[in-house]
Amino acid sequence: MILQIALNTPLRRVFDYLPPAGLGDTTAPARLEPGVRVRVPFGRRHLVGILIGTSASSAVALAKLKPALEILDERPVFDPVTFDLLCWAAEYYHHPIGEVMAAALPPSLRAGQPADMTLESWSLTGAGRQELKNPGSRRAPQQRALLAWLAQQGPKTVEEIAGRRGGGPFKSVHLKSLLERGWAVATSVPAQPALFELRPSDVTLTDAQTQVVAAITASLGRFAAHLLYGVTGSGKTEVYLQVIAAALAGGGQVLVLVPEIALTPQLVERFRQRFSAGVVVMHSALAGTLRRDAWRAAHGGQARIIIGTRSAVFTSLPSLNLIVVDEEHDASYKQHEGFHYSARDLAVWRAQRAQVPVVLGSATPSLETLENVVQGRYSRLLLPQRVGMARAPRMTLIDLRKHATDQGLSQPAMQAIGQHLEAGGQVIVFLNRRGYAPSLFCNACGWIALCAHCDARMTLHRRAAQLRCHHCGAHAKVPVICGNCGQALYPVGQGTERVEETLARLFPNASLARLDRDTAAAHGAMQAVLERVHRGEARILVGTQMLTKGHHFPDVSLVVILDADQGLFASDFRATERLAQTITQVAGRAGRAARPGEVMIQTSFPEHPLLTRLISGGYEGFAAIALEERRAAHWPPYSRLALLRAEARENAGLDGFLRAAAARGRAVADGAVAVLGPAAALIARRADHFRAHLLIETAARAPLQRFLKQWLPLVESLPRPVGLRWSIDVDPLEVD
Ligand SMILES: [Zn+2]
Ligand SMILES: [Zn+2]
Repeated sequence: MILQIALNTPLRRVFDYLPPAGLGDTTAPARLEPGVRVRVPFGRRHLVGILIGTSASSAVALAKLKPALEILDERPVFDPVTFDLLCWAAEYYHHPIGEVMAAALPPSLRAGQPADMTLESWSLTGAGRQELKNPGSRRAPQQRALLAWLAQQGPKTVEEIAGRRGGGPFKSVHLKSLLERGWAVATSVPAQPALFELRPSDVTLTDAQTQVVAAITASLGRFAAHLLYGVTGSGKTEVYLQVIAAALAGGGQVLVLVPEIALTPQLVERFRQRFSAGVVVMHSALAGTLRRDAWRAAHGGQARIIIGTRSAVFTSLPSLNLIVVDEEHDASYKQHEGFHYSARDLAVWRAQRAQVPVVLGSATPSLETLENVVQGRYSRLLLPQRVGMARAPRMTLIDLRKHATDQGLSQPAMQAIGQHLEAGGQVIVFLNRRGYAPSLFCNACGWIALCAHCDARMTLHRRAAQLRCHHCGAHAKVPVICGNCGQALYPVGQGTERVEETLARLFPNASLARLDRDTAAAHGAMQAVLERVHRGEARILVGTQMLTKGHHFPDVSLVVILDADQGLFASDFRATERLAQTITQVAGRAGRAARPGEVMIQTSFPEHPLLTRLISGGYEGFAAIALEERRAAHWPPYSRLALLRAEARENAGLDGFLRAAAARGRAVADGAVAVLGPAAALIARRADHFRAHLLIETAARAPLQRFLKQWLPLVESLPRPVGLRWSIDVDPLEVD
C-alpha cells in the first residue's frame, strides 16, 4: 500500500510514501482514513502532511519510496465535506493541494499538535493534602488558599481556577508553584460540548423579517441558497440571529462568515449576548493558542456558532446546519495572495455538498449573485424597509464644474455641513484616499515626488512628516525644495488628513474624528474613534472605506461623498459596481434613527448614467443597467475569466515568459477559449518588480477548467528567468 500525502510545498502534486514501520495490519484500515495527518521525511526535514488517499502502485520505484514516520491522528482532522471542499478547491483554483490543506489548519496543528480538545484538570496530590495539614509551613497566603480551595472543590480546570468567584481569582504563578513542589498535578480530560441556550430578546420582528425568517427556516435540512437583500438598517443581523437559533435548536453548528473589517468586538458581543455559550471566533490574526483552541472546539463540536473571516470557510464542522455569509459582495472574501479562493463561492459549494442552506446577506449584492437570482439558482428574500422610524436618505449630486471648492469641499456641501451641525446632527465626510495629499509637486519645473521602487507617486503624510508609497510601503523624508530646480514644492489634491484639516478650519467649533488605515493602525484605535462618534463627542467623521461597513451611527444626518469620479472611468470592469456599492453603503450610515438623512455626492460627471440611475433607481436600478453592460461586453457573470499574473525584476524576461506562455495557450486553446495579452499591470512596476498578466476568457466554466488543466503544466515546464514568479487566479476580482 502506498500513501499519497499532501505536503505544504508549492508543488502541484501529492507525494508517495510507504506506511510507517510497525503500523500493524489490524490497526491500519481504521487509522488510514483520508484526512489524517502523517509525519514524513522530506529531504533533510520532517514535514506534517495530510493523507489524501492510498493506492496500490506508485510512479516512483518502490525501492526509492521512504516510509512515513508516524500517523498523527486516530481520525481525520477534517469532516468529510470539508475534506472534499479542500480537494475540490485545489482543483478548481489550480493551487497546490498541500498549500490548500495547510491553509485550512491553524499553524500549531500544521506543526503536529493534537487536533482534539482536552482540558487540563488540576487536583491535589497526596503531598499537597499533607502540606495542607502542616501548620508550620511558611507558604504564601495565596498558595495556601489555592491548596485549601482545590482540596475542598476537587479537580478544576485552569479556566475555573482563574475565574473563581468570591475571594478573587488565582493566578497561574500560584498554580505553577504548587506544581513545582509536587503538591498539584494536571491531567487531560476531554472537553464537553457547550451547553447552548438562546436568550430571549425584546426585539419585535417586522412582517418582512418574520417572512424572511420563516422562508429560511423552512429550508433547514436541505440545500438552498438565499440572497437576503436588505437595505442598510433593515435588520439583517436580527434575521441571522433568529435563523441561527432555529438551526441550532436541534443540535448542530452554524458557520457565519464576515468581511475582515466587520469583525469588530461589537458584532461578536452581539452574538455572545444572545447565545449563552459556544460562540467562537476564527480569523488569521488570532493569536496562536486562541486560534488553535477555537479550531479544536469547532472540530470537536463544542463550538456551536463559528464566526470568522474568509479562511473560516475551511473550518472542520462535523455537524454543520447552516452557513451565513454577511456582506457577500465584500472584496475581502477573495484571497489576493497565493491561493486565490473566494470564500463566498466556496461557502455555497460547501452548503450544497453538506445539504444545508446558505444565506448571502447584503444591501448591495454582487452582480454575480443577482444574476444567480435571475437564473433561479438563488432565492431572493427582500427586507425593503428600514426598521423603526428610519427613512431612506435623500440623495443629490453636486456638479463640481459649477461650484467653487475649498480643498475638495464644494460650496453646497460646506453649507449643508453647517446646517446639519447646527441642527444637532453628525456628519460623515467620505474620501477613499488616505494621507494628506496624493502628490507633491513643483510648480516651476513640473517635478513630482515618485516612488523609487514603483511606477507611482508618493503620498504626502503631513502629520508623520513623510512621503509614503501606498503600493510598496516605501517611505522618505519630505523634501523642502524641489530636487530638480530648487523651488518650493506644493501638495496637490486631497487625502483624508487634509480634508480633516480643512474641516477644522471651516468648522472650528465642531470636534472632528478621522477613521482610515493611518488612524486605526494602533491596537484599539479604531474602537476609540468609533466610540467618540457614538457618544456624540465627534460631530464630523472623516474617513475612507473603513467607515462603510457595519457601524451604526444613529445621529448621522448628512453624508458627503467628496469624489465619486475615481470609480467612473477606471479600467477595471468591476470599478463601477464597487463605486455603486461604496456610495450605497456610505449613504446607509445617514439617518438610521429618527433623523431623516441626506447624502450629497460630488462629481464632475453628474449626467453619467450610472450615477443618475443610482440616484433615481437605487442600487437595484444601477445593477440592472450594469448587468446589461456586462452582458454586452462579455464580462462576468456572462463569461468566465482566469488571470495569469507574473512579476520579475527584469522586464524583458517577464515579457518573454508571458509571450511563451501565451503561445502555448493558443496552441492548446479550442475556439471556446481566448488567450489575451500579455498586458502590463496598472502599476507596471511595484517594489522593484515589473508586473504583467495574461487574461483567459471563456463563455462557461467547463471549457475554462479543461483549458487550465492542459495549459498550466505547460506553463510550469517553461524556462523561467531567475526570480520570476507567477500565479493563476480563477474568477479574478480585478483584471490587473
Ligand atoms: Zn522644480
Ligand atoms: Zn513604491
